[in-house]
Amino acid sequence: MSGRTTDPEALADAMCRGVRRALARAITLVESTRDDDRANAERLLERLATKGANALRLGITGVPGVGKSTFINALALLAIGQGRRVAVLTVDPSSRISGGSILGDKTRMADLARHPAAFVRPSPAGDTLGGVHRRTRDAIVLLEAAGFDLVIVETVGVGQSETAVAEMTDLFALLILPGGGDELQGIKRGIVELADFILVNKADGDTAALAGRTVADYRNALRYLRGREAGHAAPVLACSALTGEGIASAWEEIRAHHARLLDSGALGARRAEQARSHLWSELGETLLRRFRRHPRVRAQLADVERRVSAGELPPTLAVRRLLALFTDPTGREEPFE
Ligand code: GDP
Repeated sequence: MSGRTTDPEALADAMCRGVRRALARAITLVESTRDDDRANAERLLERLATKGANALRLGITGVPGVGKSTFINALALLAIGQGRRVAVLTVDPSSRISGGSILGDKTRMADLARHPAAFVRPSPAGDTLGGVHRRTRDAIVLLEAAGFDLVIVETVGVGQSETAVAEMTDLFALLILPGGGDELQGIKRGIVELADFILVNKADGDTAALAGRTVADYRNALRYLRGREAGHAAPVLACSALTGEGIASAWEEIRAHHARLLDSGALGARRAEQARSHLWSELGETLLRRFRRHPRVRAQLADVERRVSAGELPPTLAVRRLLALFTDPTGREEPFE
């Protein structure tokens, strides 16, 4: 591959031959919001759409400090030991504000990032939640086409990004700390309901006994919560990402559960539903982007916003007229009088 080509065919070939630089560049291409890059990205994705091995897509969430990167490092090395190729994507919409993940990501999962059977990709700089869905989903397609058969998507447990990640993965694991309930740990109930697994991390040393009690508490509480799967409470397991205790059984549970979902057809149904919901979110985002860019809409938007804020124009009427500007091919739509 020569220079900084973004030629989709060349990128696809190099990526599938295992050229890591090509994979990194392909992900950068699908993350780009430039129009010419979008066109190339779409060609690349179209070419690769049917190439993907069926990877196990695992979402991981939990509050900062719970041990996500330590856990992923341990889990991935274990899976690599069993012959898997593992990719890790991180989704952290907060990094735009804090800038914190840039330094952090250099040191996080350092063992893993160096491993030839692994690929670790931090959040793109300037990430926003709106873009998370499309970019990460597209990156998953690329990683599967490049032969990664375990794709882990990590998200920091502080916002709506969990829902986005749960919607693009096969299984979703929530890491929690030994001790207090959800409220104390700042975990929203909705997140607990999304989880296929709850893992109580740091079950070691002084917190080992407390972790045991937390497992019992959650098992109890989950009986009264709506689970992700009807009639099936999410398993709650203790582990220590630091000592490695419990990591093998967590991985075994995850693998077995994935195999069951695959066999029963539930996984196919989940993915079909995800693809459908992706279609709609993509359609919504694309329409809104085009709408905002439309010359006649753009010319009016600031003024309309001002008049709506001042109470001079009802929002519903403003929407109807703006939409008419957007869709009227004759350009003769009534002005905002
Ligand atoms: P993240 O912010 O969720 O990715 O958390 P990290 O993986 O960066 O871990 C946060 C801190 O907790 C680090 O100091 C880790 O060494 C420590 N840690 C992670 N897992 C464990 C564990 O299982 N036991 C103990 N005792 N400490 C852990």
